[in-house]
Amino acid sequence: MNLNLAVIPGDGIGPEVTAQAVNVAKAVFKKFGHEASFTEALAGGAAIDRFQIPLPKETLDVCRSSDSVILGAVGGWKWDTLPGDLRPERALLGLRSELGLYANLRPAKLFSALKGACPLREDIASAGIDILVVRELTGGLYFGDRGRKQTDQGQAAWDTEQYSVLEVKRIAVSAFEAALKRRKKVTSVDKANVLESSRLWREVVTDVAKSYPSVSLSHLYVDNASMQLVKDPAQFDILLSTNMFGDILSDEASQITGSIGMLPSASLGSSGFGMYEPIHGSAPDIAGKDLANPIAAILSVAMMLRHSFALEEEAAFIETSVEKVLAEGWRTADIHSPGMKKVPGSGMGELILKELE
Ligand code: NAD
Repeated sequence: MNLNLAVIPGDGIGPEVTAQAVNVAKAVFKKFGHEASFTEALAGGAAIDRFQIPLPKETLDVCRSSDSVILGAVGGWKWDTLPGDLRPERALLGLRSELGLYANLRPAKLFSALKGACPLREDIASAGIDILVVRELTGGLYFGDRGRKQTDQGQAAWDTEQYSVLEVKRIAVSAFEAALKRRKKVTSVDKANVLESSRLWREVVTDVAKSYPSVSLSHLYVDNASMQLVKDPAQFDILLSTNMFGDILSDEASQITGSIGMLPSASLGSSGFGMYEPIHGSAPDIAGKDLANPIAAILSVAMMLRHSFALEEEAAFIETSVEKVLAEGWRTADIHSPGMKKVPGSGMGELILKELE
């Protein structure tokens, strides 16, 4: 294969973990005989500093002319006081909507070597956690009408949740298709007891399920889902949800698998094109200290090889290498426990690279 990849390192720990992920991608391409070029572009705070906007046209052009995008993370304290539309995080929303990436896949898997890092009771952790959160990414509350107005009670602000049949249908299809390759169980999460948009969501998901008779479908209200996730996570295979509920539930799912520094994600549209990034943010509290766990970013490369380029063997090779390094007892600070061998973030990247080579 000859691939053309866009790389957006971003802010904070973004450039640190992205550098490790790109090293791993290069090593795998070399080992399996693929050619690849990597073009860097700016987004988020780095773009604000240079171009005064979070998502310059140049960056979108680089992404559009690539086969897929590797993203670090954006944001940081330095830009926290900017108005909403100029904040680094707007770059994420812009990239997702401009590139048509409506399906966000966020696997949350408890590696057997990391059972000790799971904050849940041992009997719960031992039952296993292997969940794929399928989150709608370009609609709902994060993209709906919003604003502020003066009222006789002072200023008021609103955000709007709106979903169309098309938007729900296509993300439901993504979830059911993914279920066919897993344990064939979809749990759709909404708030249909209160929200009209959730009632439409539930109707459409139920309708899509009819085309997938081998997949079982259940529905949960989001408050119950967040409770079940810590009570009995082994019951879940695929968690399908809206933009906001999926955002929150996937962070909860990440924490019960040990650390947010372990979890990759894929944002996909209807073609093979995708954007791949760790689910964590720019972690300004640890940026520049070589403490960032690069595994989420590295596993995002594995997801890219699998979902955008159908390179299953290469993807599995990365995942196995990560598991081997963990099984040998190497840990970054976020997943460290007594008796394990602590390494800095760059050290973890080097160990995985060595394992690959
Ligand atoms: P965060 O994910 O950056 O950090 C949460 C906690 O997890 C912090 O204690 C951090 O040190 C730790 N952490 C995160 N990644 C880690 C890693 N790889 N290794 C070890 N520890 C790690 O979330 P936050 O603090 O809420 O947000 C910080 C900034 O990131 C904000 O500006 C936020 O808007 C932005 N953000 C960006 C993205 C993205 O770019 N996709 C996602 C979430 C948050």
